[in-house]
Amino acid sequence: MPYRAEFRCFNGCEGSYAVTEPMYRCPKCDGLLQVVHDVEALADRSGPVWMKLFDERYRQNSWPYGSGVWGKREWVMPQVPDETIVSMYEGGTNLFWAERYGKQIGLDDLWVKLCGNSHSGSFKDLGMTVLVSVVRMAIQQGLKVKAIACASTGDTSASLAAYGAAAGLPVVVLLPYGKISTAQLVQPLAHGALVLGLDTDFDGCMAIVQRLAAEGIVYLANSMNPLRIEGQKTVAIEIVQQFDWQIPDWVILPSGNLGNASALYAGFKLLKDLGIIARYPRLVVAQAENANPLYRAWSAGKRTVDPIVARPTLASAIQIGNPVSAPRAVQALEAMNGIVEQASEQELCDAAARADRTGMYTCPHTAVGLAVLQKLVERGTIQRGERVVSVSTAAGLKFTEFKVRYHESEIEGVRADLANPPVKLKPDYGSVVDAIAKRFS
Ligand SMILES: *Cc1c(COP(=O)(O)O)cnc(C)c1O
Ligand SMILES: [Zn+2]
Repeated sequence: MPYRAEFRCFNGCEGSYAVTEPMYRCPKCDGLLQVVHDVEALADRSGPVWMKLFDERYRQNSWPYGSGVWGKREWVMPQVPDETIVSMYEGGTNLFWAERYGKQIGLDDLWVKLCGNSHSGSFKDLGMTVLVSVVRMAIQQGLKVKAIACASTGDTSASLAAYGAAAGLPVVVLLPYGKISTAQLVQPLAHGALVLGLDTDFDGCMAIVQRLAAEGIVYLANSMNPLRIEGQKTVAIEIVQQFDWQIPDWVILPSGNLGNASALYAGFKLLKDLGIIARYPRLVVAQAENANPLYRAWSAGKRTVDPIVARPTLASAIQIGNPVSAPRAVQALEAMNGIVEQASEQELCDAAARADRTGMYTCPHTAVGLAVLQKLVERGTIQRGERVVSVSTAAGLKFTEFKVRYHESEIEGVRADLANPPVKLKPDYGSVVDAIAKRFS
C-alpha cells in the first residue's frame, strides 16, 4: 500500500512516530498527539475515483470493506493488513429524514445519523475497531502490555470489551460506580473484561488510567489516543457519501470528552483536502448544562478550557468536567465556524420525549443535541430550509432506566409532560373498549 499514517504532535513539535508505538503524548511538549496522513500520496487518486471506490465497497461483504470504517481504510489506517483487522461491520449506519420531528421544531430538512445502530450500541465502535486492530498489529510486532484499558462513562468500555474479546485480547475498564446504565455495565461483564467500579466520576477514572498507561502497565484506549479519532472521522465521510457527496449546512453533536467533535472535523478536512467538498458544514457542539466546561469557555470568548467538576446529568455518557480533547475541539470549532450550546435536564427530557413521539428512540445524549438544535432554530441561527444532521451517538435501548423513570414521572426536578405510563386493566372486554374510547375520543 503506497499510503501511510503516523503520529505527530498536535502542537506542531518536530518528530513523527509509528502508530504502533504505545505513546499518548508528545515526548517534547507533553501535548496531545494526532494521526497525520500522507495527503500528497492520497491525492494520487482524484476525488471522483475515491468516491467511486468508496461507493463500490459500501456495505458489501468482501472483507474488510463492508465495514464503514475499513471501506475507507486508505484514509483511516492504511498499514493494517487484512488478517490483522478486528472488525464487526461497524459504520454504514442509517441516515434518515426526521420529517415529522423536523417540522415540529421548524425545520424542513432535518436528518438523524444513527451511529448507535452499531455492534455495541454506540459510535464508539468506529474508533475501537481501529485502535484494537493497531494494538493487535503492535503485539504481533512485539509490544508487551498486560491489557488494553480505558476509563469510561459506559460506551467506550462496552465497545473496548467487545472488540478486545473478538480479538482474544485482555481488557480492563475503569467505571464510575453507579453512574452508568445497567445495559452499559453488563456489556463488559458479559465480554469477560476486568470491570473496576471506582467510587469517583469519569474524570477520576481517567486520571488513574492515564497513570497506568504512562507506567506501561496497560495500553490506553481512551480517545486521548488519536487512533480512535481516525475511525470516528468516518462518520463525517459517511454523511457526505450518503448525501451523494454533498455537505449538509449544519452538524449537531452531543459532546463530553470532545474527541468526537474533532473526529468529525478530521473527516471533513480530509474530504476538503482531497477536493471532494469545497467548504465545511457548521459544527454545533451540544453540552449538558450540568457538564459544560467547553460551553463556559467558548461563550466567554476563551479558547482554553478550564476543568470543572461535572454535576450529575441524565446524559451520563457526557458527564465529563475535564475534557481531554478540548484543544482538538477548539480547533474544529474554529475551522467549522462552530457554535457551542447547552441543554438543561428539563430540556433534554422534553426533546427526548417529543422525538420519541415521532418514532425516534433517543438516548439522553442525542436529546441534548436535539434540545440545542431547537434553541438554535427558535433563535433564528438555523433556518427552516437548511439541511441539518443531528448525530445520534448511542442506541436508546441502552438507556431504559431513563425512559422508564420519565414515563413514570419519577425524574426529580423534571416535569414529564409527555409521560405515557401503561394503563393497567382487568382482563375484561368492556374495560378495554372504554380505555380506547377514552384515549382516542
Ligand atoms: C462518548 C459519547 C459521547 C461523547 O463523545 P466525546 O467524544 O466524549 O465528546 C456522546 N454520546 C454518547 C452516547 C457517548 O457514548
Ligand atoms: Zn509537542
